[in-house]
Amino acid sequence: MEKEQYLGVSVSPYTYEEIIADLKKRIAAGEQSTVIAVNPEKVITAGRDPLVKELVNNSTYQIPDGVGMIIASKLKKGGIRERVTGVDMMGRLLQFAADEGHGVFFYGAKEDVVRTAKEKLEAKIPNLRVAGYANGYVQDQEALVEQIRESGAALLFVALGSPRQELWIKDNMANLPNVKVFQGVGGSFDVYSGKVKRAPAFYRKFGLEWLYRLLTDPKRIKRQMALPKFLLKILLQK
Ligand code: UDP
Repeated sequence: MEKEQYLGVSVSPYTYEEIIADLKKRIAAGEQSTVIAVNPEKVITAGRDPLVKELVNNSTYQIPDGVGMIIASKLKKGGIRERVTGVDMMGRLLQFAADEGHGVFFYGAKEDVVRTAKEKLEAKIPNLRVAGYANGYVQDQEALVEQIRESGAALLFVALGSPRQELWIKDNMANLPNVKVFQGVGGSFDVYSGKVKRAPAFYRKFGLEWLYRLLTDPKRIKRQMALPKFLLKILLQK
């Protein structure tokens, strides 16, 4: 599938539906796929860390997570028109897994968070089969990989924060041949468990999630400086 480039980082200009349709073909062909969320913070990090850049660019789908990516695409006359967020992509993939009868596995976050997320999602999505889960602080990696393999899950969601989760996926995917879809989901289990609240609809509608996060957690200002920095770099590049 086609990609757009932002400061040397690839981004997929596709909607949720287009990605799922393409994934379906790849699963039928027996191929493994990885989904990574790209936001201005990750593009800036990729600029100074070649490993992060490689992890992003070697993924199958780089989803445009955040309003910064939409603005950048408009500035560069690209084709990205809607946000594809990590947390909503995960929701769509879970629905897809339930529809197709694929098992899913959740790895990451604290024990009570991942367990609660699993229970709430099972209650919310009929026919969802959670084949297993593990918290993000388990020590025995070999046993963990064995647990995922034995679960028979075809989709694996990894929530260890970035870029740890992407690195974990890269290092372990060859040992998990039955897993066809890997997504690094950051704080998504925290959201689905109800521990972290998403921005109210008003903020989401106007692409102001960053403002809501800033108001509720002012410490994020440091991370959020990536947004103006990113847009400035995009503008200067023209
Ligand atoms: N986490 C984990 N193991 C670790 C460190 C972090 O499972 O050793 C989890 C943490 O509990 C949280 C998630 O990783 O659920 C990180 O979420 P964050 O919002 O920091 O991710 P981001 O998307 O911002 O990178």
